[in-house]
Amino acid sequence: MIKIDCHIHTCYSPDSLNSPQAVIAACCRRGLDKIVVADHNTIAGALALRELAPDLVIVGEEIKTTNGELIALFVEEEVPAWLPLEEAIARLRAQGAIIGVSHPLESLRREAMGREALMTIIGRVDFLEGFNARCILPGDNRRALALAREHGLPVTAGSDAHSPMEIGAAYVEMPPFTNKEDFLSSLRQARIGGHLSCPLVHFISTWAKMRGKIPMTKFYLDVANTRLQPSMGSSMRLRGDNKSHPFWHFGRGQCGEDRWGRIQERLHLQNEHRPEGSS
Ligand SMILES: [Zn+2]
Repeated sequence: MIKIDCHIHTCYSPDSLNSPQAVIAACCRRGLDKIVVADHNTIAGALALRELAPDLVIVGEEIKTTNGELIALFVEEEVPAWLPLEEAIARLRAQGAIIGVSHPLESLRREAMGREALMTIIGRVDFLEGFNARCILPGDNRRALALAREHGLPVTAGSDAHSPMEIGAAYVEMPPFTNKEDFLSSLRQARIGGHLSCPLVHFISTWAKMRGKIPMTKFYLDVANTRLQPSMGSSMRLRGDNKSHPFWHFGRGQCGEDRWGRIQERLHLQNEHRPEGSS
């Protein structure tokens, strides 16, 4: 079986603090074999992260439509925000993406699709997110699971991580798959694992959106990106203006080739040393 966190944001999402290093290091520490990087309305961060860790990343996108959010996997062409739901689905279907609905019935999140809109497209989506670790009311996840079961849809689980400490909070364990064609059949055999994150993590997103407007933001971000991954050491410290190039600012150039090589080596070692029968 492989362990996948099906919903992670990088700092290409304006409300996320996750540097690529932090994402990869957290995946190593928490034994994640794959992650779905599903930034808000962009695949740029997922593509960049896939270049650095090709075996780890499934390129996804969380797309805001005029009727709530979709989450898509194996996205090749970015779908813009604020399209009508039908058009967003048509664009994703045309490129062969796997289409789902993130936190579909979450009552405290205004981006959630809600039952009414969801029922208009339920026959045209491939899965529902059955467990979102950022869900505040556990009953909302349970209702999503029940609805998926009712309609014979498989479910994913994901941390919806906007900060390194959240990564891996929720995941699925499922048989390995080789491509997007057999992803869904593996997902049907998945087991959900993990736990809800502390509701205070929502403040992290607010804080991330406001960075640059808050005094000492660089210091706070430094702490988030070093303290939470002590093995990465002090060369991860931030430099320069964090607002201009949010992704590459934390990226390879700042990290140093040696250190980056060691990160990738760790990833490969982890894969090689996976116990027999576990994949
Ligand atoms: Zn999300």
